[in-house]
Amino acid sequence: MTPSSGQAGIAEVLSPSQVRCFMDCQVRWWFKYRIKIPDQPTSKMALGRAIHAPLAQNFAQKIDTHEDLPSFGVVCLFREAWAMEREQVDFRDDEDPHELECCGEALVAKYMDQVAPRIEPAAVETRVEGEIAGVRLQGWVDLLDVHGCIIDIKTSARKPSGIDPEHRFQIATYAQLTPGASGEARLDTLVKTKTPNLVTQRFSVSAQDLLAVQRLYPLAQQAMRSENFMPNRLSLSCSRRNCSYWRRCERELGGEVPES
Ligand code: SF4
Repeated sequence: MTPSSGQAGIAEVLSPSQVRCFMDCQVRWWFKYRIKIPDQPTSKMALGRAIHAPLAQNFAQKIDTHEDLPSFGVVCLFREAWAMEREQVDFRDDEDPHELECCGEALVAKYMDQVAPRIEPAAVETRVEGEIAGVRLQGWVDLLDVHGCIIDIKTSARKPSGIDPEHRFQIATYAQLTPGASGEARLDTLVKTKTPNLVTQRFSVSAQDLLAVQRLYPLAQQAMRSENFMPNRLSLSCSRRNCSYWRRCERELGGEVPES
């Protein structure tokens, strides 16, 4: 992929998710962020957003009330969010929207019962921006508690075995851009297994995390501006199930994108 336009304005403002996308597959980044073809949500993305929205609503009101909403009420908010999200998903034959809804309800209830009562939120869904190593950045911080700990809530199909580099990179970025952030972080992963699970992992942003952030943003920006992009058919996300650009990718670059 070698378009002819100049570099002005390309990758002017980056975010951790843009860099993660670029590192995973440069062509996917090109489709999504450079020529801005909408990334049609998969069921996985839709469920993640539908779980995230009601939990954020709970914590936003808790800043003033210091009380959680009743679990049942938050599950109802999830159902409303899911009803809207599912409209945009082209479900595959082996996916059952009702089953996904039940899984989402169970995960939201679990989080509200087991984790939410111990969280004292200071800020929710905060837009942050700034500059690191000469690169302008922006992003959204899920949750900052009163102790300055950044809390990120994820959904996953399997239990995490450690903190992924992509999460360390994201949190290290936000720790530098968020006023009041202490450098402590927590990753709460809601696991979509048959019996819904919840894994909480704490970590501190290290000197190595900060170094990675300092080094990778300028490198990513430089590579994006070179406008020579390689598809990554070896990526774990490279499949018809997980990449909505697969048809165009096959058309322009040949080969066959695997089913799942
Ligand atoms: S189908 Fe695979 S190689 Fe093509 S854009 Fe998507 S992730 Fe990249």
